[in-house]
Amino acid sequence: MALATKDLSICLENKLILQRVSLTFTPGRRTAIIGPNGAGKSTLLRALASLNMHYEGQVLLDGLDVRQISRKKLARRLAILPQGMTAPPDITVGALVDYGRFPYRSWVHASDAKADREAVEWALECTHLREFKHRQVRSLSGGECQRAWIAMALAQQPEILLLDEPTTYLDIGHQLEVMNIIEELNRSGKMTIIMVLHDINHALQYSDEIVVIKDHGVFAQGTPQDILTVDMLATVFGVKADIFVNTQGAAVLSPVSLAGDRAVR
Ligand code: ADP
Ligand code: MG
Repeated sequence: MALATKDLSICLENKLILQRVSLTFTPGRRTAIIGPNGAGKSTLLRALASLNMHYEGQVLLDGLDVRQISRKKLARRLAILPQGMTAPPDITVGALVDYGRFPYRSWVHASDAKADREAVEWALECTHLREFKHRQVRSLSGGECQRAWIAMALAQQPEILLLDEPTTYLDIGHQLEVMNIIEELNRSGKMTIIMVLHDINHALQYSDEIVVIKDHGVFAQGTPQDILTVDMLATVFGVKADIFVNTQGAAVLSPVSLAGDRAVR
């Protein structure tokens, strides 16, 4: 199942953010969206998830305009973890994750309690939070809290998971923990992952495909090896970088200084 955009243009408060973006996200793959601050990455992700539908052009799921799909049907196929979520006060992890079951509930039909319970348990299991089920969300550490939000998105049992900078504010250990959870969902669960990442090395290590957003559009799309080059970092981020090969034989990008126009004269 493919998620795609066709000539997607978005203005926010009369300011052009994205112009005629046409992208296809390959099913079963992990795509990282990268680009400078303010380039429109979150705006793109929110449109992909129909959180913002004030756009021109189309967002398509299996070739069908998402505007023709009901909210609940869409939410059974696609879940998003936006940035900077705050939990309601006095809510437990289990109750938060249970919110993710909303697409399976209605006023008319009683929900399937067993299916709900199993989905919540599965989501907690995936995010290593089973023993945290009865804990207050506000008592969690940053890493645990982020996992709780991922679990809530997982309770939707989506085929496509969208994540906006899921490792922001986490220490490096917890960053890797979150990235490994995402990798596992993709590998064993075959979940399609579309994530905005600010860490270029995470993009390099944890994605199959990279989309670079710059100047209101797609600057480049391709494999990490093809896209994440020293030249691209200079052009897109204004940073001079070195590439190393680490002890695992993987390439690692290391910023050295500001490049070109951004260099201090
Ligand atoms: P990124 O995620 O790439 O850092 P965003 O998509 O958040 O960028 O924002 C892109 C641009 O849109 C920025 O210039 C930002 O200030 C602007 N923007 C974001 N949200 C709004 C909004 N609700 N109203 C007006 N402008 C916005
Ligand atoms: Mg953003």
